[in-house]
Amino acid sequence: MLNNLKQEVLEANLELVKKNLVISTWGNVSGFDSETGLIVIKASGVPYSQMTIDDMVVVDMEGNVVEGDRRPSTDTPTHVYLYKNFGPKGIKGVVHTHSKYATTWAQLCKSIPCFGTTHGDYFYGDIPCTRALSAKEIEEGYELNTGKVIVEAISNTDCIHMSAALVRRHAPFVWGKTPQEAVLHSQVLEYISEMAILDVLMNPELPVLEQEIADKHYNRKFGPNAYYGQKS
Ligand SMILES: [Zn+2]
Repeated sequence: MLNNLKQEVLEANLELVKKNLVISTWGNVSGFDSETGLIVIKASGVPYSQMTIDDMVVVDMEGNVVEGDRRPSTDTPTHVYLYKNFGPKGIKGVVHTHSKYATTWAQLCKSIPCFGTTHGDYFYGDIPCTRALSAKEIEEGYELNTGKVIVEAISNTDCIHMSAALVRRHAPFVWGKTPQEAVLHSQVLEYISEMAILDVLMNPELPVLEQEIADKHYNRKFGPNAYYGQKS
């Protein structure tokens, strides 16, 4: 079942290692099949060096395992909630990592300001950090509530223009139109997270990128009259 998507999700998980976004068993990638409404996600606690297609678990939109004898990632309810909200807008890949610099911003409980066009080319505006979960939200349905605060954090924008959020004191969740695109967004997020830290160290008062340049860069790539790259 869903063999192509399983292969895609396996490769996307392995890409996280190649791109230095994960170590050990940290992190997870999932993919969404909009036709069946099923999700393929990495099994829980499997080291990347031993990961095979059999470690890809199929779950439904309630998080129940539909195929596979492994337990899915503990973060599965977060992924499911993100697909419920972002799937109808075309999001078919979700990535969670603890990549060092993006996680540093999450631990600081700070959104990442858009300081330059590298950021502006991929993310429209500051990358938001979620609010704190209440003790009750942590106690009951922690992973589901993590999904809820992510959706809440980007409620001022939308999941196409803002494809990442930092979970406060935790780490980033990132998404895209495919699992591969979500991995790319995770890599870009890590790169700009590091630069933003350097920017703040060099100038704690640095203002964010001027809106007109931010608009120009984002729109020439993704706007209705985009002209970046080659015609498809
Ligand atoms: Zn985590």
